[in-house]
Amino acid sequence: MRTVLVGPPGAGKGTQANFIAKHFRIPQISTGDIFRANVTQETELGIAAKKYMDAGDLVPDEVTIAMVRDRLAEKDARNGFLLDGFPRTVRQAEALTEILEALATTLDAVLELAVDHEEVVRRLSGRRTCHGCGRNWHVEFDKPADKDVCDACGGELFRRDDDSPETVRHRLKVYADQTAPLVAHYERAGLLVRIDASGSVEEITERAIAALEAAGA
Ligand code: AMP
Repeated sequence: MRTVLVGPPGAGKGTQANFIAKHFRIPQISTGDIFRANVTQETELGIAAKKYMDAGDLVPDEVTIAMVRDRLAEKDARNGFLLDGFPRTVRQAEALTEILEALATTLDAVLELAVDHEEVVRRLSGRRTCHGCGRNWHVEFDKPADKDVCDACGGELFRRDDDSPETVRHRLKVYADQTAPLVAHYERAGLLVRIDASGSVEEITERAIAALEAAGA
């Protein structure tokens, strides 16, 4: 299965991507995670991306597209993948079509996680991320036993710099301006599958898997 997850920041893309990818046994390719790993390792790519990420802006298309092109050329992505956080602009979507054409393949479905704005702000302002495995927790809705330690791997939890209320508001605006048109683009292409992304993590995962299976992905 070749699929893309779209939705506003805080819709639960990272969390759901992890479960969906495991279910279908495909690699999860999260551009935000790849950028964050590069920032931590202080690579050239990380240094270039950091200022955009800290401001809640998108990293320029050329940089992001080149990174995804390289990642999709890797062996494990040959028989399927789940892209999380890419594409985020119509230009990136067009580039993805070209990348897949060169690999003689196409997307099967695009899954939109639909969630309202207030819910997104609540989710992001309480989100804590693990330095070790990248898993997300929530100070209210999904608490680890110790508030600073990841139950999954024992790693230290932190609040992402871009999860501050001010940057969250800006990220939502960036989504509305640059990424929402992409949803319409995929709807026109007949690839869009939309699910309600409110409720428990398990409920949303079940909905997502059922929707992708129904779409024949
Ligand atoms: P995420 O973890 O998906 O919320 O991504 C965190 C940040 O990484 C975003 O706010 C952007 O700065 C950057 N980023 C991730 N994916 C993309 C993309 N497809 N295009 C441009 N910037 C991206």
